[in-house]
Amino acid sequence: WGRIFTEQFAFSASDSVIVIGLGRFGGAVAQSLMHLGHDVMGVDKKEELVQVWGDRLTHAVQADSTNENVMLQLGVADFSHAIVAIGSDLAASLMTLMVLTELGIKDIWVKALTPEHGQIAQRIGAHHVVYPEADMGERVAHLITGRMMDFIEFEDGFAIAKIHAPADTHNVTLAESHVRTRHGVTVVGVKRANEDFQHARPETRILPADLLIVSGPTARIEQFAGGDK
Ligand code: ADP
Repeated sequence: WGRIFTEQFAFSASDSVIVIGLGRFGGAVAQSLMHLGHDVMGVDKKEELVQVWGDRLTHAVQADSTNENVMLQLGVADFSHAIVAIGSDLAASLMTLMVLTELGIKDIWVKALTPEHGQIAQRIGAHHVVYPEADMGERVAHLITGRMMDFIEFEDGFAIAKIHAPADTHNVTLAESHVRTRHGVTVVGVKRANEDFQHARPETRILPADLLIVSGPTARIEQFAGGDK
């Protein structure tokens, strides 16, 4: 799921990124950034991890990211984006963030394990905080019931999901099924077996095996996907 987070970085391909902490999350982010064509410097204090990542990243360096002098010497100040992917060592995460803000990095992302971690990070200068474990846990909870096949929720309780077409949409057009007025959700796209996704239109007729991309309030999508009337 590094993919999900790298898609949030809105910068041009020429921008370089420093990833601090090459654990499971940092490693996944770094690898996805490389695939997207960015220059990536990975930093970890563990020599074994630096060796593993040495061939796969533009640079991988063994260093203690809480040491401002070391970071300065590594040229960290020249990077326009940084992500602090140290989760379990709260002090190291926050110290690293302080070093990055001191060095004047303009776009700093921090992975946080708890809301407290995230709040402190925001207070001391993180521009973005991500909660991969909490977000993925919530996402899986929606998927595990089998009602949704994919699910993304935005901060305000609004979501986009991929679902099986509920029974009351079968064999009628979207206009006839009045999905939006009855369920409060909007069908955005429809996928028929062996075909690509099509934009949904009022005259689109839904077949029982179709998959739908729908948007709307999370609770309404849950109800719609579960076939609740
Ligand atoms: P994950 O759950 O994604 O694996 P971890 O918190 O376990 O995340 O991993 C964080 C990584 O950050 C580890 O590889 C660790 O060696 C590295 N790390 C922790 N503190 C520092 C530090 N001060 N300087 C550099 N790397 C660090």
